Amino acid sequence: MTRWDAVVVGAGPAGSVTALLLARAGARVLLLDRERFPRDKPCSEYLSPESTRVLGRLGGGVAAAVAAAAPARLRGMKVVAPSGAAVVGHFAGRFSYALPRTTFDTILRNAAERAGAEVRERVKVEDLLYDKGAVAGVVTRDAGSGTRDGWRARVVVGADGLRSVVARRLGAVRTSPPRRVAFTAHIADVADVADLGEMHVGPRGRGYVGLGPIGGGMTTVALVVPLRAVRRRGPPRFFEALDRFPGLAGRFDSRRVVRDVLATGPFAQWSRRPVADGGGALLVGDAADFFDPFTGQGIYSALRGAELAAACLLAALARGISLRSYARARRREFAGKWLLERLIALGVGWPALVERAVARLARRPDLADLLVGATGNCIPARAALRPGVLARILW
Ligand SMILES: Cc1cc2nc3c(=O)[nH]c(=O)nc-3n(C[C@H](O)[C@H](O)[C@H](O)COP(=O)(O)OP(=O)(O)OC[C@H]3O[C@@H](n4cnc5c(N)ncnc54)[C@H](O)[C@@H]3O)c2cc1C
Repeated sequence: MTRWDAVVVGAGPAGSVTALLLARAGARVLLLDRERFPRDKPCSEYLSPESTRVLGRLGGGVAAAVAAAAPARLRGMKVVAPSGAAVVGHFAGRFSYALPRTTFDTILRNAAERAGAEVRERVKVEDLLYDKGAVAGVVTRDAGSGTRDGWRARVVVGADGLRSVVARRLGAVRTSPPRRVAFTAHIADVADVADLGEMHVGPRGRGYVGLGPIGGGMTTVALVVPLRAVRRRGPPRFFEALDRFPGLAGRFDSRRVVRDVLATGPFAQWSRRPVADGGGALLVGDAADFFDPFTGQGIYSALRGAELAAACLLAALARGISLRSYARARRREFAGKWLLERLIALGVGWPALVERAVARLARRPDLADLLVGATGNCIPARAALRPGVLARILW
């Protein structure tokens, strides 16, 4: 049996970028995905502005390919409270790309292959192989033939998203409130779409809606609702639910749905440790943690997390050092973002709090820009977490 340096499970942004960086450095990399690309992914499909820098660092024409494929550029975010009151924050003079995930993820998957990774699609990872307590490979099932195979590797990278099999097999998955699920669609000719992302918060129990242009006259729309509401009343009627938000009523024509509604969730799920106890595996992207889509930072976390993972893996492959430094690097990089993301995600469950914050921010455009700049990863999250800033937003 071939022994790979690394088997990367999942060819989304986290897995493809990890595979690309490892392969380019000379590692023998196998990149597996259970889907055939181009594949869809429920998402609001906006890349926070700082993602552009990571794409630039990847080289290999990736940033140019994304720029060429992404006619939509967002200048900031508009947040609309349940009453219809609104505030706009800007990305500190920068912009974010927005494009369909079918296109974006395929650019990254192809770049990994060009860098030397061997890519196998429609191969689902079902289990892990162990050797003396350390992860030593994966067990897969081929979606076409149904064949089960084992693939041995010096390291396994779990980049298999929210429902990660690798994370579950490593046994450290945690969840917490708020548990939400999302329904996403592509809709053509939505009225009044500008060069802004929009977040509309509903009354208690109704959740929120994120939307934005993704080029070609298409808008990506994500309805995010509490899991308990879906359990009680069943999945929402998509367009009826959108029409209940004051800033959305009458803007959609249900006959203009370009892609059927995709469901995903529940979120607020993460791994207690992003590194296997016995060594031999680590987690990156949503497989490591995904709290809530409101701040739209998941793709950036996947890309930046892949850079951190690749740096640590290359050191481990060359010098045999422990993967534990990856957990520390993630804490250093993401601790502020995790806190900001959680505070905002919890806060949007309290409509009165959202009304208050939107009213305050509308009077203080500098603070609105600060908050949107921090969620766009343009400035460090800690700038928005200073007690004085939080106090001015809320009191
Ligand atoms: C409603 C919603 C809106 C969002 N909006 C935004 C946004 O606007 N901006 C933003 O930055 N982020 C957004 N996100 C978050 C973003 O979608 C994720 O954070 C991002 O996709 C994470 O990338 P990933 O590579 O970790 O995982 P994924 O993109 O989920 O990729 C995982 C890959 O693993 C494969 N896979 C899964 N299981 C297996 C298996 N057992 N074997 C083999 N392959 C497997 C899958 O087929 C998939 O290709 C949103 C999320 C949701 C739910």
